Amino acid sequence: MFWNEEIETISGEDLQKLQIERLRETILRTQSVPFYREKFKEFGITPDDIQTCDDVKKLPLTTKKDLQQGYPFGFVAVPMRDVVRIHTTSGTTGKPTVVTYTAQDLDNWSELIARNLTMAGMTSDDVFQNMVNYGLFTGGLGFHYGSEKIGAVSIPAGTGNTERQIEMLSEFGVTAIHCTPSYAMRVAEVAEEMGATLDKLKIGVFGAEPWSEALRPHLERRLGVEAFDSYGMSELFGPGVAFECKEHNGLHIWHDSYYVEIIDPKTGENLPPGQRGELVITPLMKHAMPLLRYRTGDITMLIPEPCPCGRGMRIARVTGRSDDMLIIRGINVFPSQIEHVIRQIPGVGDQYMVTIDRVHYLDEMTIDIEVTDEMFNGELDQLKQLQLRVARALKERLELRTTINLVGRGSLPRFEGKAKRVIDNRKDV
Ligand code: ADP
Ligand code: ZN
Repeated sequence: MFWNEEIETISGEDLQKLQIERLRETILRTQSVPFYREKFKEFGITPDDIQTCDDVKKLPLTTKKDLQQGYPFGFVAVPMRDVVRIHTTSGTTGKPTVVTYTAQDLDNWSELIARNLTMAGMTSDDVFQNMVNYGLFTGGLGFHYGSEKIGAVSIPAGTGNTERQIEMLSEFGVTAIHCTPSYAMRVAEVAEEMGATLDKLKIGVFGAEPWSEALRPHLERRLGVEAFDSYGMSELFGPGVAFECKEHNGLHIWHDSYYVEIIDPKTGENLPPGQRGELVITPLMKHAMPLLRYRTGDITMLIPEPCPCGRGMRIARVTGRSDDMLIIRGINVFPSQIEHVIRQIPGVGDQYMVTIDRVHYLDEMTIDIEVTDEMFNGELDQLKQLQLRVARALKERLELRTTINLVGRGSLPRFEGKAKRVIDNRKDV
């Protein structure tokens, strides 16, 4: 099912023509921003130097730090009277960045969300409960406007009060939800405790933080949904940048709205499809805050094969941001990779927490893992075997040496929004 089939499947020369046209418009818009005017001078280029999409490489990269230095309105390219909304990033990696929108931006953004929800199978017959924060966080209003655009009943549930959320899910006949994967696990847990039946629920949209493929069967079975990965970031409107189709093999990144590159985060060189690197995006449809070659910090790759659904470009599931990557005794690992390994082991419960210390100049990783009630109340021997199994799997698959502590259900924190699963106590990080 398509929301806008013509654009979603546009390819070849037609796509290139559209992209270059929009890219050139974007470049012109950026010339109202002193940061970009100066960068163009420094690089010795003018907007006319960009004639093909490949010329994008001539443009300067923009970083989160640049945006932070422009706090709050240094990157606004329109008169403030044309700005109709402000959001900020969650501030996961430092001072929040301010993002601004014109009325046209809000419309363009809801269009992308409408495409995503339609791609997941949602229609105006659906009832959609949006269980993320409705404040400055873009996931609340962003999804809300998109689901209203397709005509679904839209419930601005926000986060928290999980029991009430579950009552609404069953009493309002909710068929589709959106929340972070961490909160989804909490909702599943509380629903099970309450003995609630969520038999109408069929679509689960999970995003705003990395999650692993191994979590998918848990979410699908326990909530009775088909799970879709949703990727976005505030600087690029918010959620809606890339989203899974029903093939569940990578996320379609909207090629008419975002020009995508993958670069080597160290050298800045462009990488070909199939190679992992940092996602760099030039949004093509942003007015209030146009950006050029924005370094998302997120690690992924372009999937070279076309998707059977007929839509264009796909990126692989985002494993995490480059600054989330842990370096433990020289081994590089993302928390989502740890999650992927441990979630596949039977007996492991919903929550885990990674702690890293430096002891006598060596990194020591401890992982506290909740186990299922059955496992916790079973034989001690079984628990010991599970502990060994987890440690061995992490050693074999990720080369990590860890101390594993198995704990009972309810011992570790639950999260309503983005989870924080790593405590890094090393002094110099
Ligand atoms: P902040 O950068 O402060 O967390 P945002 O709320 O804009 O602010 O978060 C965007 C970031 O969230 C992305 O850059 C990415 O790191 C992460 N993210 C969002 N969706 C996903 C997803 N589906 N998979 C992995 N990471 C995601
Ligand atoms: Zn597809």
